[in-house]
Amino acid sequence: MSRILKLVMSNTKQRIVVVGGGVAGLATVLELERLVPQAQVTLLESSICLGGVLASEQYAGFTIETSADMFTVDPSAALDLVRRLGREDQLLTTTPTRDRAYVATAEGIQPLPRGFSLMLPADVDSVLASPILSEAGKQRFLQEQQVPPGDCSVDESLESFAVRRFGREVFERLVQPLAGGIYTADPKTLSMQATMQRFIDMEQEFGSLIAAGKAKAQKESASAQASGARYGLFRAPKDGMGCLIDWMVEAVDRADLRTNQTVTAVEKNGASWRVTTAEEIIDADAVVVATGAAVAGRMLSGVDSQLAESLESITAASSAIVVLALDQKQFRSPLGEGFVGYGIICPHVLGRQAIACSFSSNKFSNRAPDGKVIVRCFIGGALQADLVDRSDTNLLAIAMSELRQWLGVEGEAEWSKFYRWRNCMPQYTLGHLDRVAKIEQRVQQLAGVELAGNSYRGVGVPACVESGTAAARRLFAI
Ligand SMILES: Cc1cc2nc3c(=O)[nH]c(=O)nc-3n(C[C@H](O)[C@H](O)[C@H](O)COP(=O)(O)OP(=O)(O)OC[C@H]3O[C@@H](n4cnc5c(N)ncnc54)[C@H](O)[C@@H]3O)c2cc1C
Repeated sequence: MSRILKLVMSNTKQRIVVVGGGVAGLATVLELERLVPQAQVTLLESSICLGGVLASEQYAGFTIETSADMFTVDPSAALDLVRRLGREDQLLTTTPTRDRAYVATAEGIQPLPRGFSLMLPADVDSVLASPILSEAGKQRFLQEQQVPPGDCSVDESLESFAVRRFGREVFERLVQPLAGGIYTADPKTLSMQATMQRFIDMEQEFGSLIAAGKAKAQKESASAQASGARYGLFRAPKDGMGCLIDWMVEAVDRADLRTNQTVTAVEKNGASWRVTTAEEIIDADAVVVATGAAVAGRMLSGVDSQLAESLESITAASSAIVVLALDQKQFRSPLGEGFVGYGIICPHVLGRQAIACSFSSNKFSNRAPDGKVIVRCFIGGALQADLVDRSDTNLLAIAMSELRQWLGVEGEAEWSKFYRWRNCMPQYTLGHLDRVAKIEQRVQQLAGVELAGNSYRGVGVPACVESGTAAARRLFAI
């Protein structure tokens, strides 16, 4: 029987420390309270508020999302959590009449081919009809059906996989910008196995992704394929993603949630653990570290230097979001007037400075007053890391230049806000799954320490909820 399980079964009070108060840390706390009602749980968060990167602001009648603006229901961990918290009735689905994504090209923006989901073409004719690709690019796209499946035992980068299957043009003009908007990653090093295993599986099962796309399209109704991405799967709280955090915090029963507490070390102390902050030392029977991997590595360096090294080798990219409020009347180009897309993605090959522009008020109702538009422009990421440190004025100029170029926006934004997320998006580079497996093995040896958060097995909100929940369960061998 594990030491921890023995402790749970005894009548002694459990002292458990959770480090990091993002969505993963809070999910850990809720699960610990559910599993071990007698436990004495303390969460230590370094910043002045809980939620980590997740937050929303209400400003001048607008709802601003400062990082994530929605979550998927597949996998379902975030939706399941919302249901458990009794808040499902407060979730919005995306506005179906506006579910188009656009791609920037040298000649202007073009709709993403219908049914094109990241790398899966559910509607071949739509790809062939799209002016995004040249004739040669389309011919190469069609040849994908003859490309044999790769060696799935070898981890391949996104760029290598997509170029091998569809040719360079499809990669540069469609796949890179679509993936870039999600992972803010360098596709040369982004691990397919760690981020898009489903496409590897489809390649193996159907022989080609075009064949897989056709099979999928046959299964789904015409309306479900209407957009490229599977937008029907996304949800967000009516008043913004920050509500997820508010709801979780309200559901916490007895745990002590402390902000402004930076943990500097987690060390072994006989049979238990010692957690050090600038202000105090807390003894604990178990610790869950739900910070980014590099921070976790530094904290645990005194316990296991090899573990620390592996953790610190998981890097993270930075990005900036410029949030702009505009009046609909400022959109003056034919496409800009009454623009109904969810967003515009910008291929890196175009040499521009934005990764994507996301139209929050087109995605969800309740994000802007009538007649107003709220746009979030993403800048930086692994491919243009230095841009994050530009001044607000410079970032605003980049964002406005995109909107002028693509949608004929005239005048200036009514207001703008800037959010910089430094080292917040973990990079699942080649070999990531092996690194994580090694980390998990070493953590298991520690008995009483668990890791959670977006650095390991998924960056999306549902994966982070799941990681926190699973860490709590592992602690008690459940
Ligand atoms: C710009 C952006 C857009 C995104 N968009 C989406 C989206 O639309 N949909 C989606 O599903 N996901 C999205 N994501 C991803 C998702 O939001 C995150 O992966 C997830 O919220 C991370 O949660 P976490 O708890 O693992 O980490 P974090 O939110 O980073 O929380 C970690 C916490 O640990 C704290 N901490 C760090 N060091 C210490 C220390 N020494 N002591 C104590 N505390 C410490 C930090 O202050 C932080 O609060 C986005 C992410 C970003 C950055």
